[in-house]
Amino acid sequence: MSRPQAIEPGATLGILGSGQLGRMFAISARRLGYRVVVLSPDDDTPTGQVADVEMQADYLDLDRIAEFAQQVDVVSFEFENVPAATTEACEKFVPVRPAGQVLYISQNRFREKSYLRDAGLPVTPFHDLRSFEDLQAALLKTGGNGVLKTADWGYDGKGQVRIDAGTDPQSAWSQLNVPHAILEEFIDFQCELSVVGARGMDGELVTYGPMLNTHAHHILDVSIAPAPLPDRVLVEACDIARNVLERMNVVGVMCVEFFLTKNGQLLINETAPRPHNSGHLTIDAHVTCQFEQQVRAICGLPLGSNRQHRPAAMANLLGDVWFPNPPDWSAACALNDVKVHLYGKKEARKGRKMGHLTVLADSAEQAAQRVIAARNALQSQ
Ligand code: AMP
Repeated sequence: MSRPQAIEPGATLGILGSGQLGRMFAISARRLGYRVVVLSPDDDTPTGQVADVEMQADYLDLDRIAEFAQQVDVVSFEFENVPAATTEACEKFVPVRPAGQVLYISQNRFREKSYLRDAGLPVTPFHDLRSFEDLQAALLKTGGNGVLKTADWGYDGKGQVRIDAGTDPQSAWSQLNVPHAILEEFIDFQCELSVVGARGMDGELVTYGPMLNTHAHHILDVSIAPAPLPDRVLVEACDIARNVLERMNVVGVMCVEFFLTKNGQLLINETAPRPHNSGHLTIDAHVTCQFEQQVRAICGLPLGSNRQHRPAAMANLLGDVWFPNPPDWSAACALNDVKVHLYGKKEARKGRKMGHLTVLADSAEQAAQRVIAARNALQSQ
């Protein structure tokens, strides 16, 4: 297969969004000799601190967006809530990878789930809701249980309400206060998994994981790989993820998150068309990390090896770790096999992702114990 014209090192990559995912993308891009321009509404951001140029503009300031796009050779994004008008404005000048169409599907739970279901892929059963009456009708079908989620702007458990026998559906609906939502069936899962896939312009595809993920208050807490699960589950999760990236024609990186039900069925919970928190362990544990794959894929370069050096675990550092006292970095660094990653955010707030720790060990379980001990050491003063 002939390889499309690559965007070679020395070129300039544009990134929409300026959080930690953009920062780690920019670090990988710069290591490969690219220049990076970031655009977001904020200033002195995690990405801006390591990019060559930081542009502060509203995503809907289309003149500034055009100015941004004309400075770069390709555009990617680091979160899925970039407005469609923004990517369309960029596409007038340069390629956007993954394409705006992938973003459009992924940024709305109803569109995403319908797309995957219609493609024959296993998704959590859901009902489309445009009114409170739709919710009442859906609850009759689910036996009164479910997870009510906004169609737009949902992540990390934001915009969702669990409904069970003790919940007043009217107040749940009012709490959400949106014109479009879905009711998902409540899945009493065995565990949560994710696969990060990278796909190049010529269709080359590699996957990482599945990672086994545990959450605290709906936010990812710890990821481990390899997941200690039967081979059948590991292979099937990678196959489904591969299928999703191929069908959506993703050029770049996409994460597919799953529930593994108690009877061993894999159901897709959601997709994210960008590197993912659960893939952060690839930075220390794999030959090529998810961020370098994003750079390679959007530039039309061959992908790197996804070989894992050793079993690994990653623990998030939320702002909570900064309370009541700032973390004891000497204690963390004294555990000299623990890799500390910080995102340069000035203000620690509870629930805010400030950094993460990664540990490699002889087994993923050992790595998990060690990484959790390291996080505790940060706080034990
Ligand atoms: P989400 O933002 O949709 O990924 O949801 C955040 C977390 O809420 C998930 O990682 C699960 O732990 C939990 N959750 C979401 N949807 C469901 C569901 N349908 N059944 C059970 N738990 C869920």
